[in-house]
Amino acid sequence: MSVILSSKAQLEQALNPYWKQGARIGFVPTMGALHAGHCSLMHAAKAANEIVVLSIFVNPRQFNDSADFDKYPRTLTADIACAETEGVDFVYLPNYDELFSGHSVASEVPLNGLDVSMEGASRPGHFRGVVEVVYALFDHVNPSTAYFGQKDFQQLAIIRAMVSSLKLSVSIVSCPTLREPDGLAMSSRNLRLSNIERQEALVLYKALSFVRDHWQKLTPEELMNQAKHLIAASTLRLDYLLLVDPNTLLPIANNAQSAVVCVAAYCGAVRLIDNMLLLAD
Ligand code: AMP
Repeated sequence: MSVILSSKAQLEQALNPYWKQGARIGFVPTMGALHAGHCSLMHAAKAANEIVVLSIFVNPRQFNDSADFDKYPRTLTADIACAETEGVDFVYLPNYDELFSGHSVASEVPLNGLDVSMEGASRPGHFRGVVEVVYALFDHVNPSTAYFGQKDFQQLAIIRAMVSSLKLSVSIVSCPTLREPDGLAMSSRNLRLSNIERQEALVLYKALSFVRDHWQKLTPEELMNQAKHLIAASTLRLDYLLLVDPNTLLPIANNAQSAVVCVAAYCGAVRLIDNMLLLAD
């Protein structure tokens, strides 16, 4: 049985014995509406730790659009069942006031320019909200290792930068993106797609796959142009599609050995993101 913890005091009481023993605590922060992608993170945490803590918190600070926050899927009963199936020991349901009481160093930690482009450009304040909540959650849970999905590639880079800047004693593990059988990246937001939109959304995977299949055969500009054409021919409205360096997130040179192709687009009213890592043969 997963134990549900609804306050910081309950969390501290539950984790105190494990902190004292120096037990390995694996932590999976989420916003709920759990799917198999989240399960893969819990699975990785379970395999490498004595205790697994999952948090579920839809963080208003990382939504630049309040309608998006209001419409974000919330499926707590199913989420708890899912945590139990995955053998999660503790499900932490933090509350806003306890997470964000007082001033946080996360409000000023330098993000080395990683937050400037892509999601940072399209969603002002988003990454500051992410960093603030992840910092607060790390502070509450005090995990040995935290697990994040490559699906949110820029978020992962920014969390690594925060951990390094603040010299936090938590290891960050990245887990591969889980996809539906047809290739669409799993996402809580997929629940909001109509049947037709769900089919249309597949063009994102097709565009990324095109870039992957032609990587180092075409120039970065040609790759981006052709992938954008694929999306332009669909009903999706492209926000950005960029080939960037996986470490700096800056545009790549023509002879780059590695890159990540990142895309964001609106499918109806739902904003979807995806990416693929591209390495030299
Ligand atoms: P979210 O609930 O969307 O904030 O996601 C919580 C964590 O799950 C983040 O680290 C995400 O990157 C990760 N995640 C979301 N979707 C996937 C996926 N399709 N595959 C693997 N990890 C994912």
